[in-house]
Amino acid sequence: MRISVIGCGYLGAVHAACMAKLGHDVVGIDVDERKIADLSAGHAPFFEPGLEQLLQEVQATGRLSFMTEMSAAEGSQVHFVCVGTPQKKGENAADLSYVDAAIAGLAPYLSPGDLVVGKSTVPVGTAARLSDVVKGAQPSSELMWNPEFLREGHAVTDTLQPDRLVYGVHDGSEEHPAVQILDRVYSGPLEAGTPRLVTDLPTAELVKTAANSFLATKISFINAMAELCDAAGANVSLLADAIGMDDRIGRKFLNAGIGFGGGCLPKDIRAFMARAGELGADQALTFLREVDAINMRRRTRVVELTRELCGGSLLGQRITVLGAAFKPQSDDVRDSPALSIAAQLQLQGAVVTVTDPEALGNAARRFPELHYEEFTEAAMNRADAVLLLTEWPEYRELDPYEAGALVSAKRVLDGRNALDARKWRAAGWTYRGLGRP
Ligand code: NAD
Repeated sequence: MRISVIGCGYLGAVHAACMAKLGHDVVGIDVDERKIADLSAGHAPFFEPGLEQLLQEVQATGRLSFMTEMSAAEGSQVHFVCVGTPQKKGENAADLSYVDAAIAGLAPYLSPGDLVVGKSTVPVGTAARLSDVVKGAQPSSELMWNPEFLREGHAVTDTLQPDRLVYGVHDGSEEHPAVQILDRVYSGPLEAGTPRLVTDLPTAELVKTAANSFLATKISFINAMAELCDAAGANVSLLADAIGMDDRIGRKFLNAGIGFGGGCLPKDIRAFMARAGELGADQALTFLREVDAINMRRRTRVVELTRELCGGSLLGQRITVLGAAFKPQSDDVRDSPALSIAAQLQLQGAVVTVTDPEALGNAARRFPELHYEEFTEAAMNRADAVLLLTEWPEYRELDPYEAGALVSAKRVLDGRNALDARKWRAAGWTYRGLGRP
């Protein structure tokens, strides 16, 4: 099938490459000329495992191209909308201006029978509104919402082998002709057994925000337990192991630490609260305010613990922060708790050096005032305290004896409870975890 993918960021670039991998003819469209130049040259404009190889593999088949002009969408039968929906400045609500602009830009190029498929995460009610715009431009075209659940760091496999596909259609009916079109797009994963659920438009939009709210709640729940464990002298890692063995609870997403960040969870739960307020259902989501507050409290807690670790004052202390990305296997620093903590420490008088295997460029653009070191060893040189804030494998696997030879003072704060506390203590380090005695 001929497919256009509008917006080639973390979601769209992967989606475009994966649709070509599934055998379709794909054009990726983005207003960002630099991104399009990179992608056209077979370079991933951001770090995502497997993406660059996939881009090169599918570009060699001639089935994938990238353009900056929306007119390139003309002739495609299916148009995926993958543009950003960031938080509005100074408000909790989502900024829908990119989605609105993408649909308005696409409208003149729609042909009869075209299918527009929204993938961006949007507040419930957006799809119905955009459906009117699409129908107004091309009455025989259709709009569906097909939320995306990929995880950065696993985006390629999550797109090629999703754990479920959700199709939101106007009437919520499996018989809707658009369902058959999208089934042809996803025939590969469907034949491999991926479950597919057909819903109405609002349910499809809500599935995504509900899923993210649940994940955020699970993380904040265990972080609240970490606060209690700290107060009571208990161990949150063992607590998580024990409650996680109950399969109604499950162990995943129960790692206490510095909390969630990134381009999705924080802004999605806030936009969800804002939308619930507009719908008169704000009470239903007041708990998310607490989820957000617990999460933000983690960052202040780490700053306080670092101060304690440094003997009561941060002034002039050389602090090494291991990790800048919001999670390992990504270079995404949007709302990264690691960087937010690094910046707060610096503001409070510490001399902060940040290192990360992939995210330093993005980090330096966002926080130019911090000092960055490419190599872990150089970053740890003469440190008064080391903070592990993004659990990249190379940091988990650090040798405490070798690391001990680099620093001025053997103090480590394990913001992800990822290190073996006994091993680090045996090597002479003062070890602090979160919610661990
Ligand atoms: P992003 O900022 O990385 O990418 C958005 C892209 O859209 C940018 O490259 C931007 O230049 C482009 N764009 C903006 N306006 C455009 C226009 N009018 N025409 C063409 N291109 C335009 O964001 P992202 O992380 O890819 O997220 C995109 C959407 O997907 C968001 O709604 C997000 O919540 C959702 N989502 C993201 C992920 C993820 O892991 N990143 C997962 C699931 C859902």
